[in-house]
Amino acid sequence: MSLPSTYADRNCSLARALEVVGERWTLLIIRDAFYGVRRFGDFATQLGIPRAVLTNRLKLLVREGVLTRDDGGAGTVEYQLTTKGLALWPIVRSLINWGDAFYSPTGVKRALRHDEDGGLLDHEGRCEQCGSVVAVPEIRIEPGPGFEPTNSNPDPVSAMLNTPRRLLEPLPASRAPQADESK
Ligand SMILES: [Zn+2]
Repeated sequence: MSLPSTYADRNCSLARALEVVGERWTLLIIRDAFYGVRRFGDFATQLGIPRAVLTNRLKLLVREGVLTRDDGGAGTVEYQLTTKGLALWPIVRSLINWGDAFYSPTGVKRALRHDEDGGLLDHEGRCEQCGSVVAVPEIRIEPGPGFEPTNSNPDPVSAMLNTPRRLLEPLPASRAPQADESK
């Protein structure tokens, strides 16, 4: 289900973009895809999203060419960002920065670093160590000073995502095959 198009939307690319990524959960699914989540069950576990909603959002993102849906082997289906999906990274990063700046008084929740030299990324995605704009697969994400570990046992997917890791690096596949429920 997309937002109702209005006459004004026709000449507004923001409105058009929001028809794809503006619904609740969608940017969180995309964020998780950047974090290396690929399987339906892992998105569902990590996000706590109703499965029917997850199914709808994944279908829309595949239809719009933001994600691919491929056989991941061992009877599993995997979703991965396309070039069009990867182009959303500056938006995700900027929203993370905005959230940290205004809603995380103790510091960033997750730090973004250039994995090669450990340099922090500035708000333009530039490494403060070497000055280069760091490509997505070379970005390391790790808990920052504002990160608040949960008291209870986090689910295994969250636990993996909360350890330092490169973006797009798939979660370890040593878990049981998962049925894809989005058909
Ligand atoms: Zn660097």
